[in-house]
Amino acid sequence: MIVRTAARIRPKSNAELAKMREAGRIVGEILAAMAEMIRAGVAPIELDDFAEAHIRRRGATPSFKGYHGFPKSLCISVNEEVVHGIPGRQPFRDGDVVTIDCGANLDGWHGDAARTFCVGKVDSESLELLRVCEGALMAGVGEMKPRRKLGDVSKAVEAFVKRESSFSVVRQYVGHGIGRALHEEPQVPNYYEPGFPHSDLVLEPGHIFAIEPMVNAGTHEVRVLDDLWTVVTADGRRSAHFEHTVAVTEAGPEVLTLP
Ligand code: MG
Ligand code: MG
Repeated sequence: MIVRTAARIRPKSNAELAKMREAGRIVGEILAAMAEMIRAGVAPIELDDFAEAHIRRRGATPSFKGYHGFPKSLCISVNEEVVHGIPGRQPFRDGDVVTIDCGANLDGWHGDAARTFCVGKVDSESLELLRVCEGALMAGVGEMKPRRKLGDVSKAVEAFVKRESSFSVVRQYVGHGIGRALHEEPQVPNYYEPGFPHSDLVLEPGHIFAIEPMVNAGTHEVRVLDDLWTVVTADGRRSAHFEHTVAVTEAGPEVLTLP
């Protein structure tokens, strides 16, 4: 009988972790700046211009620009848009929820994080959606400890959403390993499925993953628009997305994408 064991995912060395901390900090700086800049009347393209300039000023390059042909530095996704929105000229309006996803590559090492922001005063369901999605992210981050399994991260994210709401977790897009490449093995789903590749992977110090729940107010189903990038909810209801790049350390989870 052949017993298949999950291939080992090579943990990063301390020197590599130090590099990724630097890349992650740049991403954290961008998202902190976005919190100050985002408001009604501002256009997504303005935020993208700022982010690209800041990333380059810090000696890094935008991870997303040119990635499989993506044209901009940030993904900006508004309301029913889930992920991969292309920053354009249509200004934000009061009541919008806006997801900004940012990646930076410093000396060949990537950081990746996202957060959904409110523009002005948003409705109570949207506020709840953001709270549940961010809480789900932090529940997943809390499992990024030595000797936990990768599936424990997925379980924690899914369980938080189920416990706190009737919202749904997007299944078609998942978190991921990150390092020299923006997307590395393993995939990190935001739901638990026994037998999913690497779900039995035992976490070790130096494992660095991007944890990124996408939570929809209605159905989990999504579709891609004609621009071939923008992913929207199938039912047109709103979506939120929170992401951090997180390292497993002996002392517990270390979030790398903070300013
Ligand atoms: Mg991202
Ligand atoms: Mg990511």
